[in-house]
Amino acid sequence: MPPRLAAVPGRIRETDVAEVRDRVRIEDVVGQYVALRRAGGGSLKGLCPFHDERTPSFQVTPTRGLYYCFGCGKGGDVIGFLQEIEGLSFVDAVERLAARANVALQYEQGARPTGTRRPAVGQRQRIVEANRAAQQWFAEQLANSPEAAPARQFLAARGFDQAAAQRFGVGYAPRNAGAVLDVLRSAGYDGDLLVTAGLAGQGRTGLYCRFRGRLLWPIRELSGDVVGFGARRLYDDDVVEAKYLNTAETPVYRKSALLYGADLARRDIGLRSQAVVVEGYTDVMAAHLAGVTTAVATCGTAFGEEHASVLRRLLMDDDGMRGEVVFTFDGDAAGRRAAERAFHSTDDRFVGQTYVAIEPEGRDPCDLRLAAGDAAVRELVASRVPLYRFVLQATVADFDLDRADARVDAVRAGGAYLRSVRDRSKRDGYLRELANLTNFGNDPDEVRRILAERVPDGADGRRRTGDRGGDRASGPTSGDRGEPAAGAPPALTLPPEPRTPRERMEHELAQYAVQAPRLLPADFDTLDPATWSDPAYAAVAGLVAAVGGAGVAPDAADGGDSPASSGAGRAWVQTLRTAAAEPGLDGVVTALAVTDLQPDARWADGLTARLAAIGVGAKVAAMKATVQRMRPDTETERYNRLFAELISLEAQRRALRERGLETQ
Ligand SMILES: [Zn+2]
Repeated sequence: MPPRLAAVPGRIRETDVAEVRDRVRIEDVVGQYVALRRAGGGSLKGLCPFHDERTPSFQVTPTRGLYYCFGCGKGGDVIGFLQEIEGLSFVDAVERLAARANVALQYEQGARPTGTRRPAVGQRQRIVEANRAAQQWFAEQLANSPEAAPARQFLAARGFDQAAAQRFGVGYAPRNAGAVLDVLRSAGYDGDLLVTAGLAGQGRTGLYCRFRGRLLWPIRELSGDVVGFGARRLYDDDVVEAKYLNTAETPVYRKSALLYGADLARRDIGLRSQAVVVEGYTDVMAAHLAGVTTAVATCGTAFGEEHASVLRRLLMDDDGMRGEVVFTFDGDAAGRRAAERAFHSTDDRFVGQTYVAIEPEGRDPCDLRLAAGDAAVRELVASRVPLYRFVLQATVADFDLDRADARVDAVRAGGAYLRSVRDRSKRDGYLRELANLTNFGNDPDEVRRILAERVPDGADGRRRTGDRGGDRASGPTSGDRGEPAAGAPPALTLPPEPRTPRERMEHELAQYAVQAPRLLPADFDTLDPATWSDPAYAAVAGLVAAVGGAGVAPDAADGGDSPASSGAGRAWVQTLRTAAAEPGLDGVVTALAVTDLQPDARWADGLTARLAAIGVGAKVAAMKATVQRMRPDTETERYNRLFAELISLEAQRRALRERGLETQ
């Protein structure tokens, strides 16, 4: 099947799409969502943003412009990545990347009504642009408008000067409910879009600015795109009583996954292996200005699972998860409730690396910086204690430990937390700590006995009820091969890890077919399809044959030792992916394209010869069996013909083996 190149009206020209693909560095785009570490062979690894995992199986190969997850099988080019992670249409994704790479897009003629300024712009992009335009205008108001004096005073009273406001893009929405909407409408954003973007509300007399009369913090995605605002009440007569107002859920604003400040903090979170979660926008500003440049905050919502997975991806360490997440709480009951919630809402592994930093006088980072300076904020973070210890201490503190019965009650209260820890080895450590806290320090077995009384065989009881999701998360590669939906043919997947020498050989040859086809000998294209033992590799060979064989692959421009990294190599991978019709085959090709290969023509020749020898060997065996069953006296002619073929095949196999041995 040839790549579809027919001009479709309104479609972005193929050549422009190709230019975007070439000009944008996939590692930069992916790196905005996932911390990537070098993985050898020029590839990068990180925790997959598309499935939950603890050890990185998500790979990016910059030279080929591709990503692939060996856990969940998602893979593709930079356009596909953006589509997948942001839920964009193809056109939207290409447009966003084109803007980033300064590629001027041209569209096939015909679909757009004349006079439209920008054709085929997706809704998401329009919303982001409207938000950006609004943010810039709001920031100007804050800097220059006399009306914004209370907003400037609010900031100044909290230790933020004009430079700080600029650094965080803070703005002011005038009390005139129509002002910003007029500006945006005259810039070409219609009312419907402004409502969809969450900037405007629909009132009885028309649209109004939802944030009027408030101080605004732009909320950005990791990419830096403004997707919404957090707004602080300034005036006593504000009809909206809420102190803070946030953008409601929109197509681009999902509060359950957004972290304020993450766009500024993401790099340092990766570098320092630490993320600090504070409670408000001013706390994020204060922390960053004080030198804690890893601070983020949720946007008017409790810290939840999705926030945890965003941080987990930014924290990715060489061996999985070693990073710390530090929550700052004031020491009062609210902070304790928040800590307990964090304890229960995040998984065991996350809890194990979660810390709590308590400001004894109950000050948040913003107040603390104001009262005691930048160093005090840094010291607060440095004074962190493990979350489980904080929760156990706070729980046990409610009991009068001088009384024996209260000590037993304290053990039981603390035990309730221990039971939510799945990791047995960790639970033992916590149990000893609980024993110490409840003055049973020299007798942890007594603590164990008290807890056992309450929930006999606690571990197994939990597994039946609460651990059901654990299996799925524990092994991304286990059992996910060829699990078809009922009735559907199983999608092709690459074997997780080639084990036998033959599997390794087939794997490597398939890599050559995708990455360095010109290094394959001519007889690769004549390999018998039955030679391949794994359907995924057979399908790749079939795909190569369908587009004309490895022999038609474009020549690498430099002829150097890494042909696939050249433009020609990329085009070949693209040709294969476009032609891949079988379910899963596109993913298999992508996976093969991103895995490490040191291309060597002699080695490729030897591999081909050895695999061909195996194929011929199978034919020899089958023919021998046939010939042995025949009676030479009654079927003389056929016997002689097959025998001659057998001799010829044996000779062929011998020659192939010898050729294969030369490189072994
Ligand atoms: Zn994955």
